[in-house]
Amino acid sequence: MGAEERDRDGHIAALKQVAAQFAVAVTPHLQAQIDPADPADPIARQFLPDAAELVTHPHEAADPIGDEAHSPLPGIVHRYPDRLLLKLVNVCPVYCRFCFRRETVGPGSRGLTAGQLDAAIAYIADHPEVWEVILTGGDPLIVSPRRLKSVLQRLAAIPHLGVIRLHSRVPVVDPERVSPALIDALKSGRGAEGRDKAVWLLLHANHEREFVAPAREAIARLIDAGIPVLGQSVLLAGVNDTPEALAGLFRAMVRNRVKPHYLHHGDLARGTAHFRVSLGRGQALMRSLRGRHSGLMQPTYILDIPGGHGKVPVGPLYAAPRADGQGWEVTDPWGCTHLYADPAADRS
Ligand SMILES: *Cc1c(COP(=O)(O)O)cnc(C)c1O
Ligand code: SF4
Repeated sequence: MGAEERDRDGHIAALKQVAAQFAVAVTPHLQAQIDPADPADPIARQFLPDAAELVTHPHEAADPIGDEAHSPLPGIVHRYPDRLLLKLVNVCPVYCRFCFRRETVGPGSRGLTAGQLDAAIAYIADHPEVWEVILTGGDPLIVSPRRLKSVLQRLAAIPHLGVIRLHSRVPVVDPERVSPALIDALKSGRGAEGRDKAVWLLLHANHEREFVAPAREAIARLIDAGIPVLGQSVLLAGVNDTPEALAGLFRAMVRNRVKPHYLHHGDLARGTAHFRVSLGRGQALMRSLRGRHSGLMQPTYILDIPGGHGKVPVGPLYAAPRADGQGWEVTDPWGCTHLYADPAADRS
């Protein structure tokens, strides 16, 4: 056996080990977009397993954002008073190699049973302080339109809810699923009059290459049906950690009427060190967008504080109080600082 064959056999053995630990799936739609000749293909890097996933670092955790600690019953994560997560399923059409819930999502894990769903909906109905339900998981748009419609109708009947939000990757990874029946199911979350509540979709996409024609058409079908779509992305080494890649991604979003909302700093999930970007570099990348690109292309850079302490913006900051107490030092998009005297400072 030559060295090359040994390398290949070793590589395949490593990938089998990865697949034994973390779910692997790629839709035919995505498979068709991977350029096998490009070793840095941003689609392949996001979805094809890598031996680097076998390496775990001490700072990495099975539950990096502390979902478990805030789960009063199966399917619900209630960390903030006014909004909660409802996880109908733990499966996705694809498994992102950097997923922060990679320990709980996968084809073997089951979704909520009918009884658990009843209990979750009863919990929401019993908590009048909950104004927003966020369907995530797993990918809620993998649920059959019939079942999704029934869930959204039940949520729509809860008077204190104002917003139903769905987090999904389906429009870019499996656009054919965005069918008339699925759109009809989503619209049923607005209530009987169609105006009672808002249904928002948060589209997870990380590279402009995800916005091929079928994906753009799926997004257009949603927005044309009156469902506002916002973008959420994860900052990923080797996928979008350059000024050009980020600008390309956010241009692709805005071009398709999707407002970039959050850019997530990667969570400390096991086996994801090869995707990690430093916070300082993330701030520098955010600075590279400001002033050079449309204001519509500026998401908020977000860290979910490990341990379940919540999400906060992590800059960069453009204004700081001056050391001498006389006003503020404000940095312009080109890095020059200016004094803002703050005439209203004494009103604070
Ligand atoms: C991220 C998250 C939310 C939503 O937070 P937003 O800042 O409103 O997007 C709500 N609950 C939990 C548990 C979360 O992790
Ligand atoms: S779609 Fe979301 S939940 Fe599913 S694997 Fe990707 S990041 Fe994880």
